This record gives sequence, structure tokens and C-alpha cells, in this order.
Amino acid sequence: MVGGKKVVVVGGGVAGAQTAKFLEDFASVTLLDPKEYFEVPFSMLRNIVEPEFAERALILHTEYLNKARLVIASAKSATDTEVVTNEGEKLRYDFLVIATGSTYQGPSKRSERLQYFQSENKKLKNASTILIIGGGPVGVELAAEIVVDFPEKKVILVHAGERLLEFLGPKASSKTLSWLKSKNVEVILKEKIDITNLSDSSTTYTTKTGRSITADTHFVAVGRKVGSSWIVDSVFKSLLDSDGRLKVDESLRLEGKTNVFAIGDISNTKEIKQGSVALKHAKLVSENIKKLVKNPSSKLATYKPMATPMAMVSLGRSLAVGQLPFGTILGRLPGMIKSKDLFVGHMRKALGVAERKDSLSGKGHALSSYRVYVVFAVLVASVAIIHHYTL
Ligand SMILES: Cc1cc2nc3c(=O)[nH]c(=O)nc-3n(C[C@H](O)[C@H](O)[C@H](O)COP(=O)(O)OP(=O)(O)OC[C@H]3O[C@@H](n4cnc5c(N)ncnc54)[C@H](O)[C@@H]3O)c2cc1C
Repeated sequence: MVGGKKVVVVGGGVAGAQTAKFLEDFASVTLLDPKEYFEVPFSMLRNIVEPEFAERALILHTEYLNKARLVIASAKSATDTEVVTNEGEKLRYDFLVIATGSTYQGPSKRSERLQYFQSENKKLKNASTILIIGGGPVGVELAAEIVVDFPEKKVILVHAGERLLEFLGPKASSKTLSWLKSKNVEVILKEKIDITNLSDSSTTYTTKTGRSITADTHFVAVGRKVGSSWIVDSVFKSLLDSDGRLKVDESLRLEGKTNVFAIGDISNTKEIKQGSVALKHAKLVSENIKKLVKNPSSKLATYKPMATPMAMVSLGRSLAVGQLPFGTILGRLPGMIKSKDLFVGHMRKALGVAERKDSLSGKGHALSSYRVYVVFAVLVASVAIIHHYTL
């Protein structure tokens, strides 16, 4: 850790890990996270069908941080000068970066998280019929991973909404629905299953309208919560919006604050909440903190959300559905960008962590970021041409 101004980063996910990395040579950085590792969130479902994939996706914070101090605990509250952890430690700050995108319920040890994916894999392999509850990106990506790797298994997907992937446009939903149906996934829309009474031994499931579903096991793909419960006990409480996100100004500072920033999914910027966006926030805020340390009255860089939102949902190992500025595509091109490596190599590189030669999966190895950009450029050009000639 270097001397100088104290920066506390709360949350070691995509945004927080990258910010701590950017700033550790420049200030006295403390990263606060309830787990000892950074988990590439995009690979979560692949880790279930292929637990060895998680070896590269779970990166110890100490693998990429050289100087920053690491505190493995949760934030419990905060004042204008310090963050208080659930263990009672007080972390004083000159600058605070809040990056608690989603709550985390899992273990704090990497080895236990790897074990969790092994046991989820066992549960999956022992089942013939699998129920997935939730048709957002997590439920859809899991259904796709299962039908691609285990085509002999029957998958039933129950979703409360009128269409799958509601965070994307209707075209992405209908293309995804057709693809899942072509893989014999039974998709049940506008139905809810009460998840509060489910147990590992459940095999009969009843929807809110009384429909009965039989399956050997289930996976719950709903209920990712914004990580703002601790903020309710902090001086920033009044800055939470109705979705539990923090209100930020155009420099990603909390409204009315000069030294507190919110980045990634916890900020209320008007855009689809994504890892790619969280990385942009991390870069901008790190630069702004550097400027403020040098000169407190510096003009700060401002953030502009993308006018046309882009997003990709993987469908197994080689396909994806991509919502791009000029249209929605389901196929191999978006799949080449996302589905083979699920950006694990990209995140390792961003954090400066070398590849693990021992555990590179034969089924999905890293597509370098250079190749990602080349593929993306080809994709953009192809779609632009198709679009031009079909009008
Ligand atoms: C299956 C799946 C696929 C996805 N695919 C893509 C994709 O292809 N492209 C894309 O751009 N995005 C994708 N996303 C979205 C992306 O993962 C999120 O937008 C991104 O993780 C947000 O980053 P974040 O740092 O804001 O929050 P997170 O990554 O959720 O990190 C939050 C961190 O805060 C910590 N935390 C929570 N509460 C506390 C507390 N009280 N104290 C201390 N620490 C705390 C957590 O432990 C965690 O480390 C996907 C998400 C999922 C689930």
C-alpha cells in the first residue's frame, strides 16, 4: 500500500476490483469485500455445467492487488468519514467508491465456492428433468448451457413475466424463445412458483394458478438483489432511489457529495446494468479521483450512457442472442464474442492476472480482447451491410 490519500472501495465485483487495481499505485487503497476472491459473474452458469471452468473465473483478490489492503468483511454502515464493517472495523476515507452491485450470499473462501459448483454439477448430472425458475439472463443462460451440454435432459423453464429476457427488446425475447423451444425446452410464461417453501428434496412444484410440475431437481434463477441494504444504515440513505440504487451526478459522484462515488450496478445511471458499463465507470471514477487528489478544484470527466443499449445473452458454448445498435441477432457471430470464454480471459487481462495454463478448458478457451474487437468489427460491418440491402 502506498501513502497519501485514503481511498476505500466497497465491493470487489467487476467495478470495485477494477477500481482498486487502477488506484493502488496512486493512493492508499482499501478494498472491502465479503469474499477473498473476485468472481467473473458472466461465467456463473458455465461453472455449473463444467465446474473446472470456475478455476479461471474465481480470482483471489491477492492475485491482482499488490499494494492495496484487503479487508474481507461486509460494509454495515458509513458516515461522511468512515465505513464500518460487520466486524466493527472502521475504515477512514478521503475518497469513497461504492460498488456493491448485487448482494452476495455465498462462501467467502474460494475453495468453498469451487466446491459449490461441484455439488451443483452433481445435482444436475443426477437429474433427468430439471426445473428452472426465472426467465431473465440467469435462467435463460442456464437452460441453454444444460440443453447444449446435456441434450438428453428435459428442461422446464417457468417465468413470471410475459416474455423472456425482459431487460432486452421483444425481438431478443422471441428469438430466444424459438431457439429454446427448438431444443425441446418447455417454456411456461406468466406463471409463478413460490420459492420460499422449496427444499432440495422437492420434486413436485405448484404454480400460483395451481398448475403442477414434476422435476427431479430445480434451480432458482430469480432474486438477485441490489447490494444496498447496508446503505440504509448510512448517511447516504436519502440518496437511494425507489429501486435501491444511488443517485449520482454526471461525474458519478453521489448527488451533493464531493468525495463519494457510486459505480456499476449500484449507481442509478439510465442504462442497462452490465459489466462492460461497470468497467467504464471504474475507469472514469479512478481518473476523477486522481484529478481531485492533485487539485481539489479540478474539472472532472463526465459520463454519458450509451444512446443505444447493447447486450448479449449466451446460448451455450457457441451461440448467443445479441441486441446491437442496428438489430437483434441470434447466432454464431455474437456467440464468438461472448459464449466461448464468457469474457473470463478478458477480465483476467483487465486485472493483469496471467492465464492458468493448467486449467484452460479445451471446450472454451480465452478469446483475446484483440480478437473480440476484430470479431465485433466484422459483426458490425456485416450487419450494417445486411441492414442496408434489406431496407
Ligand atoms: C449470468 C450473468 C451474465 C451476465 N452477462 C453479462 C455480459 O455478457 N456482459 C455484461 O456486460 N454484463 C453481464 N452481466 C451483468 C454484470 O455481471 C453486472 O452488470 C456486473 O457484475 C456489475 O458489476 P458491479 O461491480 O456493479 O457489481 P457486482 O459484480 O455484482 O459486484 C458487487 C460486489 O459487491 C460485493 N458486496 C455486496 N454487498 C456488499 C457489502 N455490504 N459490503 C462489501 N461488499 C459487498 C459483492 O460481494 C460483490 O463482490 C451478467 C450477469 C449475470 C448474472
